[in-house]
This record gives sequence, C-alpha cells and structure tokens, in this order.
Amino acid sequence: MEKDYFSHLSSEEKQILKNKGTEAPFSGEYNDFFQAGIFVCRACENPLYESNTKFNSDCGWPSFDDEIIGSIKKYEDLSGGSVRAEICCAKCDGHLGHVFEGEQITTKNTRHCVNSLSIKFVSHSNLEIATFGAGCFWSVEKIFKSVKGVYMVQVGYMGGDTLNPTYNDICRGDTNHAEVLQIAFNPKIISYSDLLKVFWQNHNPTTLNQQGPDMGTQYRSVIFYYSDLQKNESEKSKQDAQTNFKTPIVTQIVVSSIFYRAEEYHQDYLEKNNLGNCSL
Ligand SMILES: [Zn+2]
Repeated sequence: MEKDYFSHLSSEEKQILKNKGTEAPFSGEYNDFFQAGIFVCRACENPLYESNTKFNSDCGWPSFDDEIIGSIKKYEDLSGGSVRAEICCAKCDGHLGHVFEGEQITTKNTRHCVNSLSIKFVSHSNLEIATFGAGCFWSVEKIFKSVKGVYMVQVGYMGGDTLNPTYNDICRGDTNHAEVLQIAFNPKIISYSDLLKVFWQNHNPTTLNQQGPDMGTQYRSVIFYYSDLQKNESEKSKQDAQTNFKTPIVTQIVVSSIFYRAEEYHQDYLEKNNLGNCSL
C-alpha cells in the first residue's frame, strides 16, 4: 500500500501540498526568514532546499535559486500565461510552487517560488554566528564567502538607533547602523579566532569611521559578539593584531543586536555585477 504522507497535515497545508493551492503572498512564515538551516517537505520531511540558496525576490513567497539534488520534480505548467514549471517534492509528490527562469535576480537566474506551508525549517545546529563590520560590505562579503567552513554570509545593518533601516537610511550616516556581515560558520572547520584573523587582515582597523575613501559611522570597524567567549576571543585577537599596525586599532567590540538583512541587490553584490573588488 502506498504511504499516505498527507494524513497528518492541517487543512491549510493539505490545500497547498495535496490540492495544489497557493497561500496569500507575504503571509507565510518563511517569506522574510533567513536563518541557517535546511527546508524539508512539510508532508514527508524530504530535504528540499539549503538556506544559503534562499533569497528575497519581493514576490511574497520564499524564493530559492537552487534545490538539493534529486529532491524536486518539475512539471510543465502553462496555466499562468507564462512559461513556468510546477515543482513538487520528488518523494511524496506534494505541491511546492513554481520555478521561473531568466529573471536575473541571482547569478543562478532561477527562482523556486515556494509556499511556506509546503516546507518546514530545520536549523543547522552545528553552526555558529559571527557578525563583523569592516567598511563597505560588498568586498568583505566575497572574502568571507570563500573561507572554508563558512556556510552562509549575509550583508546587512546592525548597531544603530532606528528600526528596519534601508540602505538609503544608513547612507545618511546618522542612524549609527554599521554595514555588517553575518556569517554562519562551522566551528569544527574554522574557529572563531581564525575568522577574526581574516577580519583583521582584510580591512584597516586603525582608521576611525573610515575605510579608504568611504567615510561615516556606517563604515566603522566593529565586532558584534554573541557570547562572553566571543567577546574574550575578540579582545585577545585585537591585542594580537595590534602588532601588525603602527597606529592604535580603533575597532569596537560590542554586544550584538538585531541584524537587519540588506536589500537583495546588496547580497553577492560583486558576483552579481561581475566586479573583482570594490574601491578598497
Ligand atoms: Zn514530500
């Protein structure tokens, strides 16, 4: 007998996964959700998407630019008036949403548009978070993304006085938000202190509120820590790094606060725009 993967679902979940419905845009719990982990099928728990493929398309549904190999089935669907494919879970055939090509939002040029009710988030419990400000976030993001053991890097804003800042807000320089990278890393592969070494080596921590031509508090050198251990390692690392600089390091070491993910066009900025490096 075929296993019934849908019997435990709520009527709302069945409406999507079994009857191929669509939840209202901007209503789902994962639309604006960017933690490090994996999204599994809500019906059968088949792993579908890694969170480092998730992006914000502003369409109102969770968006991914790649699937876990073999996890998804695609069916041609011409009902929406545009060329798109229906996507279903390869294990239970539950309806997930649709996939679109050629929109050029991310470099993979693919958008899996998925209902939140079709998926369930499972955190990667082996990862830790680090947050650094080191000037313009575009180039430092690229550097940290290439570090072995780093699972995911997001650029955003932290440490300011206003809620839900936009790039335009922080560019004025009066909100006190810093441009930061939030890094999810596997400490068994790269330690926090080794990440700190990458931090010191890739910006100038001795220029107050300035990196090269970029001036303002948004470009300050800052470590936002998440634990006393991170705080202590940061302070020790700052002392060690000082031997490499003639003038005093002015980097702030402060407790973390709310991370506001930056607008999608800032994520992977150099890669999307085919740039080797920014002005630094
Ligand atoms: Zn499934």
